[in-house]
Amino acid sequence: MHKKKFCSDVLLKCYLVLLALCAQSHCALWAEDVQNPSAAAPEFAQGKKDFEKRKYKDALKHFQAATKFGSRNTSIQYYLALAAYSSGDFSTFKRAMSRVVVMNDAYSGVGKQALEMVSKRSGAKPYCALTNGSVVRFVKSKMPIKIFISQGWMLPGNYGGNNPTTGVLQLMKQKNFWSTLPHDPSYHGNYHGCAMQGLHAWDWARSEGILDYQIVQSPQGADVLVFWCPKLQQGNIGNVVLTGYTSDLNLPNEHKVIIQLVTGGGESGDDSGRIALMATHEFGHCWGLGSHSANPSDVMYSVPAKSGVSENDRLTLRALYDIAPDVRK
Ligand SMILES: [Zn+2]
Repeated sequence: MHKKKFCSDVLLKCYLVLLALCAQSHCALWAEDVQNPSAAAPEFAQGKKDFEKRKYKDALKHFQAATKFGSRNTSIQYYLALAAYSSGDFSTFKRAMSRVVVMNDAYSGVGKQALEMVSKRSGAKPYCALTNGSVVRFVKSKMPIKIFISQGWMLPGNYGGNNPTTGVLQLMKQKNFWSTLPHDPSYHGNYHGCAMQGLHAWDWARSEGILDYQIVQSPQGADVLVFWCPKLQQGNIGNVVLTGYTSDLNLPNEHKVIIQLVTGGGESGDDSGRIALMATHEFGHCWGLGSHSANPSDVMYSVPAKSGVSENDRLTLRALYDIAPDVRK
């Protein structure tokens, strides 16, 4: 495995930009994740009363009910974890405390404290999954996620190897866009299979019902588009640029993730392992794992060395899909 940089060290340079916009017709689709603090409050209050009286199992039930309406409430998840632990329900403890880790900045007091607790008591090390400070992920009603992996196509002009802006989405609407795309000269025929391998590393999440995705043969209508480029253009020697993913750009009905996988770099020999690993990492960002793990054995470490998705990666993704995303209109 070549030891090169994948995403740059700073998570922002992963260029995650998901266009997850809530056009009129989509609003209802996000209802599954609506937060309702006033509905959560009485359950939370009762749970705390029970907790203080050390009636942990009763408290647990109330906290669980509260999370249905307040999955993004750190206090509720934290109490839920503590009540679960005191009740001997360690799997609920681990999952709830992981949610606290996932939705809080890794350097925040509560983020650090939650990580320490879950790590000490379960050995697991989930990590923050915020994308530029927000919880961004696919919603179930948008699944199956349609994924198109091109055979060596590059984004045109300045977009190739660069951070695509919404401008590229406008370009895609032009009639001849797809028929005139340049081909990456460093692309080899087997790279498509490597990208597929990277995708399949996440099949466990499909089995668990967290994600659902399918490969499509046409770029039109795809939610995730995989392009290729020989190198990055912004001075970074990294092998990956991932783009296309944000929730606050004002383009109605757009909802795309654009991934660019870097093919070149002057390396000799078989690059297939490197590309599969890179693809695994970038698909992780694609699902919404918007921050890097601090643990080198995770595939979402900034410079991943392991090809497999770790238990920490799994735990983090599960927790991410337990909590409501931020949606901006
Ligand atoms: Zn990354």
